[in-house]
Amino acid sequence: MKRKIPPFMEIYKSLIKIPTISSTNKSIDQSNKNFIDLLSNYLSDLKFSIKIDQIPNTNKFNMLACMGTGCGGLLLSGHSDTVDFDENTWTKDPFILTESNNKFYGLGTVDMKGFFACILEVLSSINKKKIKKPIYILSTANEETDMSGAKYFIESNIIQPDCIIIGEPTSLELINAHKGHVSYSIEVIGRTGHSSNPDDGINSIEIMHHIIEYLIDFKKYLKKKYQHKKFSIPYPTVNLSSIHGGDAINRICSLCTLNFEIRPIPGLTLTQIEILIQEKLQSIILKWSSRIVIKKLFSAVPAFECSHKNNTLKKIETLCKLNSKTVNYCTEAPFFEKIAPTLILGPGSIAQAHQSDEYLDSFFIEPTKNILNKLLYQFCY
Ligand SMILES: [Zn+2]
Repeated sequence: MKRKIPPFMEIYKSLIKIPTISSTNKSIDQSNKNFIDLLSNYLSDLKFSIKIDQIPNTNKFNMLACMGTGCGGLLLSGHSDTVDFDENTWTKDPFILTESNNKFYGLGTVDMKGFFACILEVLSSINKKKIKKPIYILSTANEETDMSGAKYFIESNIIQPDCIIIGEPTSLELINAHKGHVSYSIEVIGRTGHSSNPDDGINSIEIMHHIIEYLIDFKKYLKKKYQHKKFSIPYPTVNLSSIHGGDAINRICSLCTLNFEIRPIPGLTLTQIEILIQEKLQSIILKWSSRIVIKKLFSAVPAFECSHKNNTLKKIETLCKLNSKTVNYCTEAPFFEKIAPTLILGPGSIAQAHQSDEYLDSFFIEPTKNILNKLLYQFCY
């Protein structure tokens, strides 16, 4: 049978060659359109039908490719974007796939364009005539910033696969849960005045001092109330990250800002966190209502867990001879789990993600192809 797409290395090179940097810094942020087009072309050469959706108000795109009809099936998902890079710390060209010491170097090699190269390699040799349930390939936008690609996919989605696998670099370990992440800023707006007369102003640092006491109580409360034994740090964490306030020694401080983050375990939702913060700070907010402003920073990601009550998890553990584990980084899984049982399983180590001279160890390629084949036969044949 004549191969319809180029060989593995050629595909991998072409995926790395297209920059798809996502950044909250607008001057660095790039469209992923060329990458999505290239991936769609390969998949359409393999006879997949393609749906490309623009994320509203952005120049970013999601792609959903499908082969087969009916309900159920398997969805393999990866994000199309990468983080930014620092050219002073890279010793190789980030956009030229370089093979050295059995490692593939380049920006996005492990996080996570290598997964797409493996998927295409496997799909180039499957028996398409015997497919009974759909195979979906999803490539999302903006995972590295606000996860708007995954969120938009869920909002506009019309499919219901039996299982979703996100190929983030897990060193081919099966991940069924991770913590979430949410961050806040609290501003206290006092009133400045000369330091010689404390009654002349309202010192925002002193109000912030009380807020910090409440937050430290909140941190202890979360640790006591919420526990999840599968995590190495088995409780939600609160980190007071930065604080700024005041300028001159002889001036009453008018503005003080505190940033902090919370990493919830599964079972503690973002809404619960929101309510708990309001509750814990209620007395001080009542006292200084117009002077305390609480804002959410960045885009929050809920905690995620595909529990052992779920048959899909058991099925995949048996099929791949893997025991599921938890990790401390966030993925798009909490969004996808709304439509199907979702697990994270992909080639390469997270230790190389977001690093200079990022690489995928070639050791992962063959086992990844094996696992993908097994998953396809389990869910689509
Ligand atoms: Zn990633």
